[in-house]
Amino acid sequence: MGEITIIYDNRTTRDDLYPGWGFSALIERDGRRLLFDVGADKIVLEHNAAALGVDLKKTDYLFLSHEHCDHVGAISSALHVGLTVVYPASFSRGFGKRIEDAKSDAVPIAAPIEFMPGFRSTGELGTEIVEQALIVDGNDGPILITGCAHPGIVNVARVATALAGGPLSLVVGGFHLGAKKEAEVRGIAAALRGLGVARVGPCHCTGAQAIAVLAEEFAGRFVDVRAGARIPI
Ligand SMILES: [Zn+2]
Ligand SMILES: [Zn+2]
Repeated sequence: MGEITIIYDNRTTRDDLYPGWGFSALIERDGRRLLFDVGADKIVLEHNAAALGVDLKKTDYLFLSHEHCDHVGAISSALHVGLTVVYPASFSRGFGKRIEDAKSDAVPIAAPIEFMPGFRSTGELGTEIVEQALIVDGNDGPILITGCAHPGIVNVARVATALAGGPLSLVVGGFHLGAKKEAEVRGIAAALRGLGVARVGPCHCTGAQAIAVLAEEFAGRFVDVRAGARIPI
């Protein structure tokens, strides 16, 4: 049993949460707590976490998708003693030291790995903007969580499906489709369906128009993801 709590997103479900360009989510599964990205702004992260009853200092892992400020900017609010931070090995030099200075453990990741039971990284993907995505075992099958999906959401989903050994039950996160035309977004939806993706919850940098098209393409299998959303997994 578990739950994904969206802490930080461009949009919110409630007026008492702050919207902000960025993404962060708490993933709880079988007693383990992992924070996926931290968003850009400490004030937004800390405010939303408090409003949602999330203690940022009680996490086992921090998973960082890629080194863009809307995903790592608020990191100092999330570091604590005993935390393990997994991040792409290609991050800037000195990043690991910053983590160790805060008495957290730094684990750079290059290749795919199951770093905690039920939680795995796709490893570093992409060439220009390197990014890792997270695969979590869910009740209905593997779940993929992406930061911005800069290497391409279909590519990331294809890699994750192969690593998980079966179709994804849910894909949540930034799909980065803001610049895509409607027909391209429909093609991407078809490609995801072709991979067997059961449900999608696009948010963050996906783009409002692309989100609307995906909601249509995945009618009945669309999850409305914004800060404040809680998704059972
Ligand atoms: Zn990005
Ligand atoms: Zn982003």
